[in-house]
Amino acid sequence: MPLDSLLSGVRVLDGGMASELEYLGANINGPLWSAHVLEEAPEKIIAVHRAYIEAGAEIIETASYQVSRMGYAEAGLDPARADAALLRSVGLAREAAAFHPDRRVLIAASLGPYGAALHNGAEYHGNYTCNFGDLVEFHRQRIDVLAYAPPAESPDLLAFETLPSLAEAEAIGQALAKHPELPVWFSFTCIDQMHVAHGELLRECATAVARFPQTVGIGINCTRPSLVNALIAELRAASDKPVIAYPNSGEGWDAENRCWTGTSDPLAFGGEAREWFRTGAQIVGGCCRTRPTHIKELTQAQSKMNEI
Ligand SMILES: [Zn+2]
Repeated sequence: MPLDSLLSGVRVLDGGMASELEYLGANINGPLWSAHVLEEAPEKIIAVHRAYIEAGAEIIETASYQVSRMGYAEAGLDPARADAALLRSVGLAREAAAFHPDRRVLIAASLGPYGAALHNGAEYHGNYTCNFGDLVEFHRQRIDVLAYAPPAESPDLLAFETLPSLAEAEAIGQALAKHPELPVWFSFTCIDQMHVAHGELLRECATAVARFPQTVGIGINCTRPSLVNALIAELRAASDKPVIAYPNSGEGWDAENRCWTGTSDPLAFGGEAREWFRTGAQIVGGCCRTRPTHIKELTQAQSKMNEI
């Protein structure tokens, strides 16, 4: 399928994986968060994917956000297991989608930034101590594994997400150079209505990634919902690529006390999602602390818009 038609007609992305696994009783507190569930309780991952498909998701993201050779090595695990886990995450998503043969469900391989593998919150500021070449190599390893995957473990696209900086996006572009045919989206985490976490303008980041031949969409995720309308406008000003928005629920992370505060009302999330579609997002979903009920509300909000 040509790259620019891959996402046509697609509107609803899924929601958070880690918190939903926790609700199902999986332990996600280890250094690999949800990644070790891939090996220990794959049936729970399939259950989460299925819940999102049933809620209306037309794209599901694999449980691979923290999977990388570097992260595995730092957790004392054989880095080769990371490659197998990455492929397995796609296989599980495909298994889940196969339960719904009447639906077209795209599989996006979730690929977190370098900071996510450090497990110290570095993805929320992007001040890394590694050099640009290290960043390229970090991303190249996972890209190569997925680019050469067998069909049953091959994703429809690669979703680079929670990107904190322009430099990291450019490193990914370089790492992708060998694979011009591989569909990719780039999604940034933002700190205000204009800037990504590291401080560059979102508009500047979007302009940069829009030039890569692989880019099928540009978005924002892991960001406060109240910022989303303004950020969608920034993305639309930067390029004509499909805009993707998957913010966190309305809850906020209290870093000092290491807990979530505030509340998240799925109905309110659905109402906000309608605004995001109106502002110009093509695809909307959820990031941290969103659940299948949030995606159900957003699916309903979107289908009601079609009736008007
Ligand atoms: Zn998030």
